[in-house]
Amino acid sequence: MARIRSQPCLEALDVLGIHDTTVILDIDGTITGDGQVFLSDSVLAKIRELASRNVVYVFSNHRNNTRNNTRNRIVASRIGCALIETPHRKPSPNVLLGLPRHHRVQPLLVIGDKIIIDGLFARRIGARFIRVGRVRSASDRSFVRMTYLLDDLVAAIGAIWRKPEAVQETIPTGPCSPNKQSSESRSSAR
Ligand SMILES: [Mg+2]
Repeated sequence: MARIRSQPCLEALDVLGIHDTTVILDIDGTITGDGQVFLSDSVLAKIRELASRNVVYVFSNHRNNTRNNTRNRIVASRIGCALIETPHRKPSPNVLLGLPRHHRVQPLLVIGDKIIIDGLFARRIGARFIRVGRVRSASDRSFVRMTYLLDDLVAAIGAIWRKPEAVQETIPTGPCSPNKQSSESRSSAR
């Protein structure tokens, strides 16, 4: 797996300033590759750091239905965070209904790799959004690759029109740690 270096990766985010927040963390392309279950030690450490001061949920549109959510449950179990189980899909704000009410009323933060999905979802629920460098795999499906291209195009256009002040509000990051595992087989649960 490899990350898009032009965008800060999850493990490089400085999350010290994030606290008392409900964090909704995307799975595919954000903490692991599309449809995969491998989680690097650095990603796990960053999620633990986030969870030490916040409530962290994970969610993915991938295989998001009540009958076949096994892979997402495996990922949630591995990182020790709750999975949002809902028939709704991002960017629908109804995804938020999968959270207990008391976790919906505190500040919300969405972390994901797609501005057209995660970013729009964040906007619809009134959440802050952090776009992170994408976890990619040689086994990414053609359709997935196309959505990545579209998303990067939208993000690039958005960056052109964004005010300089807004650019400076980007979360400061540290250096990206190398992703030690080059590939990961698809989840056997799929
Ligand atoms: Mg994603």
